[in-house]
Order: sequence, then structure tokens, then C-alpha cells
Amino acid sequence: MQVLLADEYGFCFGVERAVQMVEEALGHGARVRTLGPLIHNTQEIARLEAEGVRTISSPAEVGAETTAVIRAHGVTPGVQRELEARAERVVDATCPFVTKVQKLAERAAAEGRDVVVVGNPDHPEMIGVKGYAPRNAHVVRDASEVAGLPRLHAPLVVSQTTLKLKTFLEAADAVRARADAEPQIVNTICSATRDRQDAARSLAGHVDAFYIIGGRHSSNSIKLLSVCKEQCGRSSLIETPDEIDAEDLRGARRVGVTAGASTPNWLIEQVVARLKEIGAAQEEEEATVAR
Ligand code: SF4
Repeated sequence: MQVLLADEYGFCFGVERAVQMVEEALGHGARVRTLGPLIHNTQEIARLEAEGVRTISSPAEVGAETTAVIRAHGVTPGVQRELEARAERVVDATCPFVTKVQKLAERAAAEGRDVVVVGNPDHPEMIGVKGYAPRNAHVVRDASEVAGLPRLHAPLVVSQTTLKLKTFLEAADAVRARADAEPQIVNTICSATRDRQDAARSLAGHVDAFYIIGGRHSSNSIKLLSVCKEQCGRSSLIETPDEIDAEDLRGARRVGVTAGASTPNWLIEQVVARLKEIGAAQEEEEATVAR
């Protein structure tokens, strides 16, 4: 049985960088506190907790002798200041792609322009970005919500990094109709999610079974599952190698593997090793029967 990994899988750049920054802080003996869960993966959070990392839900929980970590989604400038005032040290793991959106919003607001951010207003990334242009930013989910906005002055239009391109372009078009000048439209969508889906899609048509490793509540992992199912009916979402049932792999010659953007490499390696073990055992069994 061949085990084939998709061309793109697992940690995106921003999540990998955030985990590395936490590891570095731990290496210096720091008491590390992350504001919100660093990553949406139960197993990786458990591993970090075993190393002493704790998740806090508000800057008020930061003690003077702790290192506070801002996760990849970023925070508002107000929250950042509060962390800096309370913690011994702040590690800013905001993904550089998110920082770009924050800076664009901040600059446009400083110029007195409106800022339209297309995304989920309840998502931490959007709450952080809005904090950079508190009086000028309007967060809309899609084009239909643009109709409810006031007349917009020389607007900047940016997107949540994980948004679908179609949603962004439709919203940007709708902004044009409400603006007093041609809007500045900057596509700030990050390609990590799309790249993982494209890679999974192109592998799914060439395998007999497909395993997607990721949290059951991780939206990007669930999306990967549906992309794989379109081409490979024997596609399953698993969190750990223990969930693989060897019987499901009977007769499978090629098995695909991919992982959501919050799935650590060590977990992916465990799944690949388990699949290879099952493959070797089944080949051995077949050879014995043939003898
Ligand atoms: S999905 Fe993209 S923007 Fe978000 S953390 Fe990962 S690399 Fe950064």
C-alpha cells in the first residue's frame, strides 16, 4: 500500500511561526500565557500545556512574571498595550499577512478614509483589524451587508485572510456603488487554505482512500474533507492515528493524506506511520494466503 501526501498540507506559515515563537520563549524558561488558544488543535494544545503553556481569556489574567503571546490572528492596539503594561514580555506572533491588513486599515483611517473589511465580524482577526481603525472601519460579511452602510468616503476595501475570493470581489463591487470616489481595493486573502484544498483535490482522484487529519470542529479541515469526498468516497476526517480502522483499508492500494492548517507535523507523521504499518500487515497477510 502506497501512502501519498498532498503537495500542501498541515501548518500554514503563520501558525508554524507562532508555535516556533512559543517554543523559543519556553526555551528561555519563560512562564508562557497565550491570549486565546494558540491553535485550534486539541493534541497540539495538550502538548504545549504539558510544556507549561497556559491559555488565558483576558489580558487581566497576565501576571507580572509572564510572557504573553499574541496569536496569529492578532489583537487590537488597545489589547496589545494592556498586555505590554502587565506582562514581563510580549511575544507578538501576529501573522505578517494579518499585520499587513492592520497597517492598511490604520493608514487609511489616519487619512480620514472609510475602511470596509470583508469578513466575519466576530472572528478575532476582524476584531483586531477593526481596532486599528475604530471610527472608520465597517466589517461586512458579504455584498448584501454593504447596502446597509452609510455613504463611504474614498474607501479602502480589504478582506479577512481566509475569505473566499468570490465573496470579496462581490463585496468590493458593492462598495464601488456606495463610494464618493473609486475605492482602493486590496485583496488580502492568504492562499494557504486554497493551496491545501487544491493539492487535496488533485490527489483525491488518484487514491482509493483518503485521510484528512484535523480537528472535528476545524472549519478548514471539514472543508478539506468535502473537497476530497467529491473525488474519493472513502475519505475520512480523523484527529489521531487511533481512529484508523484497518478493515476500512482492505484492498486499498493507494492512500492519500492531508492535514488542516492547525495540524502539527508530529501528528501527521504518526498517521503516516500507522497507515504504513497497516499496509505492511495486509500485504503480509495476502502473501501468506497466496502461498
Ligand atoms: S492562514 Fe494565512 S494569514 Fe492566517 S495565519 Fe496562516 S498564513 Fe497567516
